[in-house]
Amino acid sequence: MKKLSNYIDGQLIPPVNKSYINNYNPSNGKPYSLTPDSCFQDVKLASKAAKKAFKNWSEQKKEFRYAWMMKLAKAIDDNSKNLIVAESRDNGKPEWLAEQVDIPRCSENFRFFATAMLHFESKCHNMNNDALNYTLKKPVGVAGCISPWNLPLYLLTWKIAPAIAAGNTVIAKPSEVTPYTAYLFSKICAKINFPKGVINIVHGLGKTAGSSVVKYSDIISFTGGTETGRVVATSAAKDFKKCSLELGGKNPTVVFNDCDFESTIDIAIKSGFLNQGQICLCGSRIFIEESIYTKFRTAFVKKAKNVLVGDPKNPNNNLGAIVSEEHLNKIISKINLAKRDGGKILCGGDRLFLKGKLSGGYYLKPTVIEGLDYKHEINQEEIFGPVVTLIPFNREKDLIKMCNSTKYGLSASIFSNNVSKAHRVAAKIDAGVIWVNTWLLRDLRIPFGGVKHSGLGREGGFYSLEFFTESKNVCIKIENGVNK
Ligand code: NAD
Repeated sequence: MKKLSNYIDGQLIPPVNKSYINNYNPSNGKPYSLTPDSCFQDVKLASKAAKKAFKNWSEQKKEFRYAWMMKLAKAIDDNSKNLIVAESRDNGKPEWLAEQVDIPRCSENFRFFATAMLHFESKCHNMNNDALNYTLKKPVGVAGCISPWNLPLYLLTWKIAPAIAAGNTVIAKPSEVTPYTAYLFSKICAKINFPKGVINIVHGLGKTAGSSVVKYSDIISFTGGTETGRVVATSAAKDFKKCSLELGGKNPTVVFNDCDFESTIDIAIKSGFLNQGQICLCGSRIFIEESIYTKFRTAFVKKAKNVLVGDPKNPNNNLGAIVSEEHLNKIISKINLAKRDGGKILCGGDRLFLKGKLSGGYYLKPTVIEGLDYKHEINQEEIFGPVVTLIPFNREKDLIKMCNSTKYGLSASIFSNNVSKAHRVAAKIDAGVIWVNTWLLRDLRIPFGGVKHSGLGREGGFYSLEFFTESKNVCIKIENGVNK
């Protein structure tokens, strides 16, 4: 089996302890490559390389960094076919999705932050012409970038790009569940001779490699589960390291009776099930105004039953495989819990076994559940799979209470043709990102992130560049020449 390498100081190298983890193809359940099971020694090497590279990289003109990042973006585009196939094979997502969303976003991330950095401003505060304060923006040092498996290279580059644009150097740790495209990315960096030590990629488990990245970095950008985020934040806090956390969600989709019915159904289906429901922004609790509840349920379930699940390589399939057997079993255990407590499964609910070569793959049909109280665990905890619940509401007040009843607060979507109502409800829902009559419409400049247990801080545009820099104020007293 193919052994993947770490990428440290511009070199593709094996892990120090020569130990590896099996990497599985979720579409058929078979292992197909070996991921370095790196330990603290590998991270230490990466940290040493990143520290050494920092001086030169951070002191270069921003145009220098811009030019390298644009070169990297082009190299990603030149290798996009390989990356698309690899991302789908590693994650189980349909190839068409990797082609339309994941891989184009990787190069876009580098272009976006390379150019954003050229426009990043320092402020000046003039004190009645007696003094001038100007604020310098300084890179922090070595940035630890830790990412999850659901949008593997997309999210990893979303962290690496602003970190290096701002002049930091990086130790990146991709998810051990989906390491392959990060490995291909490191090969691309090596091939174009990207300045060595600026980007280092260390593969491995969270408890070993991941925790070491937190220890050996100066600033941490983490995306993943809420409980892991708590461990990362606790560890980072001991040394007062700046920490950005993008965590889990249990996002409400709110359907008012004055919505544009057909398009709302289409968007709610997409928001519930895209990427097998494994997007932190997926709308997994659908609140429907009582007067259209039955009509909505009938149309929604009909459409959910028509969602095609199967071979990720087949462009006709809407959904591919769940990322791992462990995760599939976790989702199924949640569905069983719903059944046990009286939840009605309107469609889906069981593992789907395909025939032939894909018989060992991890497939699950879109699952729609109704009849559970909004306080039930199924409506409170993130499932992170193709599972949604339907909940009726009457009064706006009750709706808001139910929406805000979870510990999460990442995103929400509201469907209504009454702008005032949508505006009013948007203001009251606890979430960092709200969509009205749409979902997942992303502008990379906006502040992106969650409230409550969904995260800390904001990513995107200048918010990311702010995070990856320290502000340093210089106050200059001006000699007032008027009376001289
Ligand atoms: P996870 O928390 O299990 O792992 C995320 C990353 O953290 C992996 O690289 C893992 O190896 C690493 N890690 C694990 N333990 C660690 C430790 N002790 N120290 C340092 N690193 C450690 O999450 P996952 O299962 O890969 O991803 C799914 C979760 O990610 C979901 O909860 C989802 O909502 C969340 N997510 C959030 C966003 C967002 O923007 N808010 C985006 C995507 C995914």
